[in-house]
Amino acid sequence: MSKHIFVTGGVTSSLGKGIISASLGKLLQARGYRVTIQKFDPYINVDPGTLNPYEHGECYVTDDGAETDLDLGHYERFLNVPTSQANNVTTGRVYQTVINKERQGAYLGKTVQVIPHITDEIQRRMLYLGKKEDYDIVITEIGGTVGDIESQPYLEAIRQLRWKLGSSNCITIHLTLVPFLQAAGELKTKPTQHSVKELLENGIQPDILVCRTEYPLEKDLRRKIALFCNVNLNAVIEAIDVPNIYDVPLVMRKENLDKIVLSKLKLSSKVEPDLDQWNAFTDKLKNPSTTLHIGLVGKYVELQDAYKSISEAFIHAGARNDAKVKVHYIHSEHISEENVAEKLAHLDGVLVAPGFGERGIEGKFTTVKYVREHHIPFFGICLGMQCAVIEFARNVLGLEGANSTEMSSTTPHPVIDLMEEQKTITIKGGTMRLGAYQCTLKPGTKAADIYGADHIKERHRHRYEFNNDYKQQFERSGMIASGINPDSNLVEIVELKKHPWFVGVQFHPELKSTVMAPHPLFVGFVNAALEHKNVRESSTSKVAASS
Ligand code: GLN
Repeated sequence: MSKHIFVTGGVTSSLGKGIISASLGKLLQARGYRVTIQKFDPYINVDPGTLNPYEHGECYVTDDGAETDLDLGHYERFLNVPTSQANNVTTGRVYQTVINKERQGAYLGKTVQVIPHITDEIQRRMLYLGKKEDYDIVITEIGGTVGDIESQPYLEAIRQLRWKLGSSNCITIHLTLVPFLQAAGELKTKPTQHSVKELLENGIQPDILVCRTEYPLEKDLRRKIALFCNVNLNAVIEAIDVPNIYDVPLVMRKENLDKIVLSKLKLSSKVEPDLDQWNAFTDKLKNPSTTLHIGLVGKYVELQDAYKSISEAFIHAGARNDAKVKVHYIHSEHISEENVAEKLAHLDGVLVAPGFGERGIEGKFTTVKYVREHHIPFFGICLGMQCAVIEFARNVLGLEGANSTEMSSTTPHPVIDLMEEQKTITIKGGTMRLGAYQCTLKPGTKAADIYGADHIKERHRHRYEFNNDYKQQFERSGMIASGINPDSNLVEIVELKKHPWFVGVQFHPELKSTVMAPHPLFVGFVNAALEHKNVRESSTSKVAASS
């Protein structure tokens, strides 16, 4: 039977429950336990797929095509194990199941209520992965903050599970904030006490408190928290702010979070965690040989969580190349013919981001034209790849007014068009081309070289595609289709022959980059940016020497 760890949050949102859950998962995995992490979100959307990135950050897509919370990205990046639809549950999904069952007559004669029907369905889903797969430990992160009305059924479900499974099979970790009051010059424990009181009102005594803090928690303060919140002294864990999320497992290790968890769950902690690879990675992050400047051109740049997986993939690929990648977020609406050189000329590489809709699209075309003509390494992802195709059609093939039918339904040259199977779809939620699809790489291309493989599988989230009617024209002029879906013949990768590094992909490689397995395309792109920087620097020093 799997053991269960619930992670709740108190005082404020954004304390980093996802990173704490992923870090704990990493430490337990490094001790040899089979671990998975799931997220339960108390909102009513069935999934976050229909949410604007400004609302909820990036939508993370799993192999099985689920549109999920971005915390699942952290789980995969830390544990290097794929997640699935079952790892992300929302209130909307729970209610949908219960209401469908009610319509089918599953509760005939009964009044359907939050308790027991909703809480039973929540518990069924909390236990599901542990029963279906052979996990030793299942970590369940509860979204939102304790005290929110919508969190209550989840807390009730945890209370009941603790009673059913027993205290050695089911524990709760509560993440809280211990704020520093400047005026008093002190760390304050009262918000933590109140937040634990809130949990107690819901019948849950937390086993462990993880306290986010800007300053070290001295022994006296820990004792105070332990006494007033009714936890063991060694179960008051300091989670001090660290400059990068990949240090959190190491900080939690120092605080013995994993040991305390194992002792509460009555599991052995004899095997020390093997963190050699992890330490090697964080060492690389701390001591890069050089810094690269990469521009990320997109339209959601005000909220960097919208591009979370991309920025993390750059961290992984940077470490692999012994370089720190500084990502510069550039608003595509602010790029014009007049200022494009000023915005991009100094960069070592440019990525045009995924996205939807027309806003800011012309700035993306201008970006692509500039980097294509100036031989700056270019990486286009999803909409970014589509922009590369449109720009090439307009400026190289001379197809005036070429566009995607997403942006212009009357374009004379729909070089990007709605996929055939999308044409009859009217419902918005979960209906894009989602999840992992096969792709065959053309031998001798950059893509085949980078992957070192003939066949790959990558994750998708889009409705539009490269229009194969134009393929020959593109290939004749030097933009080749280097990755093709073997079943549908869809073009998944394009690249330019005469350019140091110009690759566009219809899929989302960023979703598969992890600490242990940085994505080859990101590694290749960062490497090309490094070369670009070196060439540029050596030519400027030659100019300086000769003058
Ligand atoms: N809007 C484009 C499409 O639906 C690209 C989507 C994306 O970038 N994820 O095809």
